[in-house]
Amino acid sequence: MRIKGKKATEFLKEISVDLKWCDRCCVPVLRASVCTICGERAREVIAVAPKDVRPAFEKDLKKIKSLLVKEYGGRIAERLLPGRSLILLNKVEYADAADEIIVGGYTIGTRIFDLGKLSWVFRPEYRGAALLIEEGKKYAVVKSDYLKKFQFIERSEIIEGDVPDEGYVAVESRSGKMQGLAKVLERGGLRIIKVWRAVSSLPEVKSYSDLKKAVKANEEKLEELESEAVELIKEYSVGSAVTASGGKDSSAVLSLAAKSGVKNVVYVDTGVDFIENKEMVEKVCNVLGLNLTVAKPVESFWKYIKVFGVQARDYRWCTRVLKLAPMAKVFSKKGWKVSITGQRKYESISRALLSPVSPSLTLHNIEKVVSPIHDWCALEVFIYLVKEGILVNPLYYQGFDRIGCYVCPMLKLPELRAVAQRSECKLWETFLRKQANKIKLPKEWVSMALWRWRYKFPPEVEAALSKRGIKAREIILKVLSSRASVGIEGSSLRIILRDIVEPNLKLIADRLSEYFQVDYREKYIVLNKQIEITNKGVIVIPIDNLRNLDLIIKTIYSESVCVKCNLCKWASPEECPVVKYLHLDSVKIVSEILGVKISK
Ligand code: SF4
Ligand SMILES: [Zn+2]
Repeated sequence: MRIKGKKATEFLKEISVDLKWCDRCCVPVLRASVCTICGERAREVIAVAPKDVRPAFEKDLKKIKSLLVKEYGGRIAERLLPGRSLILLNKVEYADAADEIIVGGYTIGTRIFDLGKLSWVFRPEYRGAALLIEEGKKYAVVKSDYLKKFQFIERSEIIEGDVPDEGYVAVESRSGKMQGLAKVLERGGLRIIKVWRAVSSLPEVKSYSDLKKAVKANEEKLEELESEAVELIKEYSVGSAVTASGGKDSSAVLSLAAKSGVKNVVYVDTGVDFIENKEMVEKVCNVLGLNLTVAKPVESFWKYIKVFGVQARDYRWCTRVLKLAPMAKVFSKKGWKVSITGQRKYESISRALLSPVSPSLTLHNIEKVVSPIHDWCALEVFIYLVKEGILVNPLYYQGFDRIGCYVCPMLKLPELRAVAQRSECKLWETFLRKQANKIKLPKEWVSMALWRWRYKFPPEVEAALSKRGIKAREIILKVLSSRASVGIEGSSLRIILRDIVEPNLKLIADRLSEYFQVDYREKYIVLNKQIEITNKGVIVIPIDNLRNLDLIIKTIYSESVCVKCNLCKWASPEECPVVKYLHLDSVKIVSEILGVKISK
């Protein structure tokens, strides 16, 4: 089931974290109404659902502070971001990095990694916007008594203000009852993009706080969460192993597993993982006395990428070949049937739709996937690690939100930039540059990390590209053309599958005879007297008969290319990365060129 748009927003609100704040102690209070340190009632933190907040670490804070100083000067930056208390970041939906910044339990605004400027920008909101109005900085009081989203405000309608030439301003209605956020338009005037009932300025932060204090405020609930998780793991302790990644969630699960008596741990070394990840798993396993097995893919990433091309968010062959296949092999060899993971429901809607115990969606040799921290939010995980004295992967301190490989398409631009100087990342960048040169892609394919999308760019990326005079579709076509070339010959389509060198026509004919009347010749086969497939990987098919093209291409690939990853042993043949991804590329380019949907 896929949930999108408004339904997704509603769903995220429904599952949102119960996040409150104690103003006296200046700490987050989770799943409770009262702060256990002082006994005061905690108030709800208003933020974008699902409020999977995480602590801002020193490097994050430095970056935010310098952004605020640049925007508003040192004094206002100090008021917006007092150094004394725990500051939270709440990831919000956007093509790249974007986080609400929560100070003293109040949202002061959102930092967004602007894809046009390729730098962070700050959008003041709620208490942060109110503070700017109070300070008379980058604000506008307008003639209207009410503010509406998308409302256009002429310059002449601004009663008082300090409006810059570009960027964002805090807005207040004449009555003072409403406030909002507006974008300064190039042609003059303001466009309101967000409105709310007026709030007062950000109050002063009263008390010092940090993660240790947050542990004290949430100790009871953490103990409850821990004992529920331990009970769950105990139910599945026989024939199980923890699959660890080196991230915070996996470290928390390692600690819980140790308390539950589960000793087995698997870490898949993809060969392109940040070294910190492996070190983290090793250290945590050592401290907790767990038995670590390190699995590896059959071939190196660099060998596979020659076959598949660059991985992307919508083209993640890498997960199957580099992670799932080696993991499945270890589970099978050891006879383990249950994988204990650190998956959490707040990571994605698809994860939220799973239950803490679910069947493996891909691997048939794993009977159950158990997620003991399915209901935990990111902050609970961090607080738990502090409580247990377990090391936190240093990449989080560098500004990382999600831990993975250095070639991971899920990485955000600020994360990529944070590690750009490391030798392995330079190597990756050089590889990407060479790829870009080979097929004449714009330099932005590397600098904006456009390689992270293969079939479709998010609207924000397309907009940033169009401002630079770059056509997104041309990039997609160039990338896909390296897989297949498509030409129109009269009323037929001629598709050359570039990676099919010597297809086994006999096998292909046998497979397709289930669906077509097949005429097999030595150098080509003809399906239903209409569709021709040659021994050079060329398909000639009538344009008005593309119904079965997906099936034909899939069959040619599955009978002609094998990267020997062994995933077919542990999953259904449909999960074979060649069938799943290489064939999709060829189908997508036909769809792009003809403007019709071909894949099912
Ligand atoms: S056929 Fe099996 S071994 Fe070959 S690529 Fe597909 S899944 Fe991997
Ligand atoms: Zn308190």
